[in-house]
Amino acid sequence: MEALKRTDPELYEIIEREERYQRSSIRLIPSENYTSQAVLEASGSVLQNKYSEGYAGKRYYEGQRYIDRVERLAVTRAEELFGAEHANVQPYSGSPANFAVYCALLEPGDTILGMALAHGGHLTHGSDVSMTGRFWNPVRYGVRKETGRIDMDEVRQIARAHRPKMLVAGASAYPRELDFAAFGEIAHEVGAHFLADISHIAGLVVAGVHPSPLPHADVVMTTTHKTLRGPRGAMILCGADLAAAIDKAVFPGLQGGPHNHTTAAIAVALKEAASEEFREYGRQTVRNAQALAQHLLEHGYDLVSGGTDNHLLLIDLTNRGILGKKAAKALDRAGIICNANAVPFDPRPAFSPSGIRLGTPSVTSRGMKEAEMQQIAAWMNRVLQDVENEDLQKAISAEVREFCRAFPAPGLAE
Ligand SMILES: *Cc1c(COP(=O)(O)O)cnc(C)c1O
Repeated sequence: MEALKRTDPELYEIIEREERYQRSSIRLIPSENYTSQAVLEASGSVLQNKYSEGYAGKRYYEGQRYIDRVERLAVTRAEELFGAEHANVQPYSGSPANFAVYCALLEPGDTILGMALAHGGHLTHGSDVSMTGRFWNPVRYGVRKETGRIDMDEVRQIARAHRPKMLVAGASAYPRELDFAAFGEIAHEVGAHFLADISHIAGLVVAGVHPSPLPHADVVMTTTHKTLRGPRGAMILCGADLAAAIDKAVFPGLQGGPHNHTTAAIAVALKEAASEEFREYGRQTVRNAQALAQHLLEHGYDLVSGGTDNHLLLIDLTNRGILGKKAAKALDRAGIICNANAVPFDPRPAFSPSGIRLGTPSVTSRGMKEAEMQQIAAWMNRVLQDVENEDLQKAISAEVREFCRAFPAPGLAE
């Protein structure tokens, strides 16, 4: 980054510090990851200089001979990796991609049945604070209090009562497997479209450690930057029957020119994700989450649903008498980064919830395995047992920094 250093030393220094921070801390935010150097290079390339409204072969501007090749590569790789008839790789991110799906298939005011935000769903599944909950009529399912799991009989009852036009399955804070076959059956019984939002778990689906929604869903949306380990972006997969409607909703319905440097980086990430190495990454991500869960249970922590099937876990800290925000801040000072999160039926307000959310995609990308999860759980427990002790947090952060040196992160200079 020599040119950046000369032109804007202030910004250069900030990025340098962020890079050091990413290198020397244990990052447990389940939506984050480390992309490869190859993905970073494609996403920082001259492709960002191009305008290319439209789709490959049908552009409004001339000069697309290379851009069309880039987009076709990304589309073909997406279709092959997920076994989809059609892929749109242009959405700027996951939230606008979900918006595009609703615009393609719904009328304003139609009913959307999605998972409640407070139970682990995403804002764009019809939350009151999202425009998706204003432009459409949201109805919600959640998890059972006793099990922390979605009860498909309850989902069916709600669907029969409200006859939604769209059923959304997908979550940002749900540690268990989603039963896409059952969601699909329910959607089709009540005449709803079925959208599977696999933003968090796309990499696990590719790796075969989470069932694929593809045979069951009408539309599949995923971000490209979470477990899939690509650049920040999203894609929409669907059958040939919905392709035209989806494409039109993305462009010209909601967006202008696609971000071609991102499209290129998505293509690279999809190539990487098609490797056996990536499948092993997905399997290890789940093994690590389960190991971390096991050790936290042994330390006496209360996990929502009692454990995990995927890459994330939710700790309910109520029995430890610590607020989520306080815990997350103390852990951050100790070099362990996670986020405060509501737990299902949380009596506390959303900005100061009872839990924290953890995930293993980033640490697994650095090559950490089960033994390291035991060490991380031990550090977390020491911090949380003595949460006011800033000297302890400082001492642990030095240990964490040293520990991280043995696990070089993809895309970061050593
Ligand atoms: C992250 C996420 C999104 C939105 O992605 P952004 O790129 O942050 O807009 C949508 N749905 C789910 C389930 C997510 O986890």
